[in-house]
Amino acid sequence: MNSFIENVNFFEGNNPEELAKTYGTPLYVYNEKILRNRMDAVAKVITKYPYTANYSVKANTNIHILKLALEEGNNCDAMSVGEIQMLLKAGFPKERIFFVPNNVSEEEMQFAIDNGIMTSCDSLQQLELYGSLNKGGKVAVRINPGVGAGHHEKVITGGKKTKFGISEEFIPKIFEIAEKYNLTIAGINQHIGSLFMDPQPYLDAVTNILRIALQFKDLEFIDFGGGYGIPYHKLDDEAVFPMEDFKKRLEPILDDFVAKYGRAPLFKSEPGRFCVAEGSVILGRVHAVKHNNGKTFAGTDIGMNVLVRPSMYDSWHDIEVIREGKVVARDNLMEQTVTGNICESGDILAKDRPLPEMKRGDLACVLDTGAYGWSMCSTYNSRPRPAEVLICKDGSVKLIRRRETIEDLMKLF
Ligand SMILES: *Cc1c(COP(=O)(O)O)cnc(C)c1O
Repeated sequence: MNSFIENVNFFEGNNPEELAKTYGTPLYVYNEKILRNRMDAVAKVITKYPYTANYSVKANTNIHILKLALEEGNNCDAMSVGEIQMLLKAGFPKERIFFVPNNVSEEEMQFAIDNGIMTSCDSLQQLELYGSLNKGGKVAVRINPGVGAGHHEKVITGGKKTKFGISEEFIPKIFEIAEKYNLTIAGINQHIGSLFMDPQPYLDAVTNILRIALQFKDLEFIDFGGGYGIPYHKLDDEAVFPMEDFKKRLEPILDDFVAKYGRAPLFKSEPGRFCVAEGSVILGRVHAVKHNNGKTFAGTDIGMNVLVRPSMYDSWHDIEVIREGKVVARDNLMEQTVTGNICESGDILAKDRPLPEMKRGDLACVLDTGAYGWSMCSTYNSRPRPAEVLICKDGSVKLIRRRETIEDLMKLF
């Protein structure tokens, strides 16, 4: 693909150079149509049985994006009190929020209980804490299925080496604690990891948790976790996640379980990245180009504080070059290393990447930044966090988060 942003008309007729001038750079730009399209797709993964897609909001907690998820019929997973508060503020009723934390304090647990929010306990001690705070209550437990999958060790969340969930051997203990506090185990959940393009490991994990689920009698829901991938190498024509194939293969696994269990509980999944990643790009300015020891460096204002995934996980993000508002064609490529403006040698967006030759004043347009982009921003090097704009369905542009200022940073002292 020569250009994703041209292919999908990402800016809906707006000139990216004008956006950069009006709102400044670095700038997160979202496309409402793409966001809604992906949120709608995950809501339809299972149609034969009761099902909800819980958008895992840690991928992106901008309140305006949460409102889109609300309208598209997604429920949401929150990992912290902050995320619960954000969801309540966005208008989510408590029934549509699922709290999936780990290692929370008594106060945090109490907050969820006071607000009537279904909570999943990640360890026996957290279940014990929940029981002591909410005797006779309904609760969920997170199971560590003993299998994991993902694009990097840091994002594999199931399996023997990871910190998450309660392993199967301790299920008798879950029942002991439940009995002690008269708790109903109303749900079980898992999450094996993030960013898989092959559905098989996920289908195996679904089969596995459904086998485990047979030991629980009172389940109102079973949550299979998130992790559906998106093609980060789209300019090299990487295929999308095979959603239709996945759905077809999932159905008989569910049929088999429902027959054995005697009824269909609510099935859930927890996609984060899939919902939001492709609905955003970052526009950043090329401020300086240099040649060091035979290598060309294009220095931009998209530092690791703006997008940490490349330096944290060695993640690939496609980059398009925009000059005077127009995408530069990818027919004459030259190896360049694209860096940010942070004083760290690891502050690299793309290493030795064949790209159209970048010039000072160009815009670097980084693709697929909607998930784990702004939500992982920091103020490292005392750089205020970027603004976010939404290109609405009708093509109008809405500022959905103002740029942070130095005064904002000063206020904490
Ligand atoms: C992060 C997370 C998700 C979402 O993962 P994605 O790869 O973004 O789909 C789902 N469930 C849990 C428990 C998570 O921690």
